[in-house]
Amino acid sequence: MPIDPTFPENHHVIGKRGKPDGKDFYFVWGPGREAESASDQNVKDAYAKRGEAIVPLGVHGTFVAVDWDSCIADGGCIEVCPVQVYQWYRTENDIPAVQMVDGISAGTGSVVREERKDFTDKSEPVREHDCIWCMACVTVCPVQAIKVDQTNLEFHKKEAEKTK
Ligand code: SF4
Repeated sequence: MPIDPTFPENHHVIGKRGKPDGKDFYFVWGPGREAESASDQNVKDAYAKRGEAIVPLGVHGTFVAVDWDSCIADGGCIEVCPVQVYQWYRTENDIPAVQMVDGISAGTGSVVREERKDFTDKSEPVREHDCIWCMACVTVCPVQAIKVDQTNLEFHKKEAEKTK
């Protein structure tokens, strides 16, 4: 199930993550749903090994948005992005994805495709603001978990105003 193309209208902001100085941040949209990661065998095995449940996670990012319920930790996006927008979240914050709603993502995680912690890892658009709109990540994603849309900057700005 691809990312909902109208997620900013059908979801609401449930948190924001970013640098400790509060300047660069991205929003997390919920509530999420059951999608590809719940049925992918690699993902299911990795969650079982950790003793973590597969629960709805929502969408990370607004104008560079990754549906974490669809993401199966393929990592193609991480590999092709020319400006390293993405990192493996668990290589910076090794906590259950459901806890990745609010808090610090400084951008110190790995940007190497094969360095995912395991298949519970997710592609985190930690440098969303650096996107140059090349669309390579959108094209490469095998489950169409990513939406890159410059017009969604408006949704980001609107939400940023609210959380000032
Ligand atoms: S559109 Fe291009 S620059 Fe933007 S996140 Fe995707 S791969 Fe990176």
